[in-house]
Amino acid sequence: MDLRRFIRDVPDFPRPGIVFKDITPLLQHPKALDVAVQKMKQPWMDVALVAGIEARGFIFGSLLARALNVGFVPIRKAGKLPLPAAAVRYALEYGTGALELHRDAIAPGQRVLIVDDLLATGGTAAAAGELVKRAGGTVAGFSFLIELRALAGRKKLRGQIESVLVY
Ligand code: AMP
Repeated sequence: MDLRRFIRDVPDFPRPGIVFKDITPLLQHPKALDVAVQKMKQPWMDVALVAGIEARGFIFGSLLARALNVGFVPIRKAGKLPLPAAAVRYALEYGTGALELHRDAIAPGQRVLIVDDLLATGGTAAAAGELVKRAGGTVAGFSFLIELRALAGRKKLRGQIESVLVY
């Protein structure tokens, strides 16, 4: 099955010059979504926990956690978590953002797989990796549905990096 048929290019969103990869057709197609999750799952039989990055990383991260039969923890945008959380700031195109993770989300040394829908410049995923380490976890690696290779995001990350669709 060619999963690319289920990814739509939306030019000039959210800003002129950006081609947004819209995954909503994939989400509407249960068979294609299942194939995507099975492919994302393959390399990761030895992780203890999946951490998904808000918001589309919650979708793929939750499905992957179920497929791997491990727990899921949300990495959230600033100010959303109710209990004490570690925070890491990262560069956005304009200004900075922050990601947060509950301090008690990860047991010491637990092997954590970080999941998002798409790897672009890598700033978001690098911040998530830093957070997992601060919370006491070990970063097992990173899993993305889509990688925009020209943006070289993987250079910002350490460890195993897997993506199903490379553009
Ligand atoms: P980056 O930090 O540059 O790697 O950006 C990755 C984050 O931004 C992910 O959470 C993606 O969902 C989102 N993102 C960046 N570029 C795109 C794009 N062209 N299409 C869809 N989402 C994107």
